[in-house]
Amino acid sequence: METTPAFAGLRCTDCDTVHDANVTHTCPDCGGALDPTYDGVDVSRADLVPDASAGIAAYADLLPFSTDALVTAGEGATPLLPCPGLADELGVADVYVKDEGHSTTGAALDRGLALAVSAAVGHGATDVAVPSMGNGGQAAAAYAARAGIDSHSFVPSRTPFVNKAMINVHGGDMSVVGGRYADAVDAFQGAMADEDWYSLAPFDTPYRQEGAKTLAYEIAAQLDWETPDAVVHPTGHGTELVGLHRGSRELADYGLVDDRPRLYAAQASGCSPIAAAWDAGADDTEPWETPDTIVGPLEIPDPAGGSRVIDALDATGGAAIATPDQDILEGATSLAEAGVTMGASGGAAYSGAQALAEQGAFDADDVVVLVNPTTGNKEADILRSHLMSKGI
Ligand SMILES: [Zn+2]
Repeated sequence: METTPAFAGLRCTDCDTVHDANVTHTCPDCGGALDPTYDGVDVSRADLVPDASAGIAAYADLLPFSTDALVTAGEGATPLLPCPGLADELGVADVYVKDEGHSTTGAALDRGLALAVSAAVGHGATDVAVPSMGNGGQAAAAYAARAGIDSHSFVPSRTPFVNKAMINVHGGDMSVVGGRYADAVDAFQGAMADEDWYSLAPFDTPYRQEGAKTLAYEIAAQLDWETPDAVVHPTGHGTELVGLHRGSRELADYGLVDDRPRLYAAQASGCSPIAAAWDAGADDTEPWETPDTIVGPLEIPDPAGGSRVIDALDATGGAAIATPDQDILEGATSLAEAGVTMGASGGAAYSGAQALAEQGAFDADDVVVLVNPTTGNKEADILRSHLMSKGI
């Protein structure tokens, strides 16, 4: 693997052993998740300017692989939209929507899958595979296609039509599994036992959360290096929130910003293992027995990054919050009516922020960022049916 000068190996989050980049997935010693580490990083704010053409390669100085080794398709470099009406409503100084729906496949997880597919190519993989509620499969298919390798996505039958269609359109192989997400994971694991495919499953690879950290760089740059006080991120497995935490911590460690934002994980009440663990004061999640939310990307009953999300919330003074589907959909559609192409999962950031404001989580001078992880265009049927339920 060709790595960047500052890359210092993959550190196990459980046993602390540092492995070299030839290790592909989890810790060979204990099976723990691995995180890239760096040494001697020398970057300035000018080195971290978002560039839609470069995608995550704009931040190659802070990534494991050099620009030439990155598989990019213009992911990230998404807008940060000021929403003064929301600031008034939440009783804070400013609210912005970080609209990740503008990314390559319309989803925040493009950043991480770009880096994870880059690693797969570097490790000589010819096939990548992932279980997904839809967006991960679509992004994996797109980036595998970009790299000229094959992809295999395992999605439950409830996955939106757009995701299924685009997995095929990108040339990906797709298994539609009856049941829910856990059934898709079972099918994925069964196939992986027989095939020599490269896993892109969340926290199986060190690189999805690593690519996701670039979200923190962009928010900081777009706010002219003034750290927001709070970021509310809809959360399933936690890949993006953990990445956001890594990026925020790095910016502070490298002296590029003075503070870190409080991080808030927003979930749907019908499947909220992280919020339940947070409320109980637990340091890890318990599997959610009866997952039931219309917001598919948030219906993750056993988050792979559960304990790491809780660590991030705890370390930054944030919290987890769960809100009902009706509030989430109302949040998404009301922002859509204000001209923001908010996905249903993004609505959870809004309804979560409303609930947090009611709890007194925000101060009057706070700057709050709501992350929209998915474009509303992918979930138009869910959003439209919410309007129809109101007789509109
Ligand atoms: Zn280990």
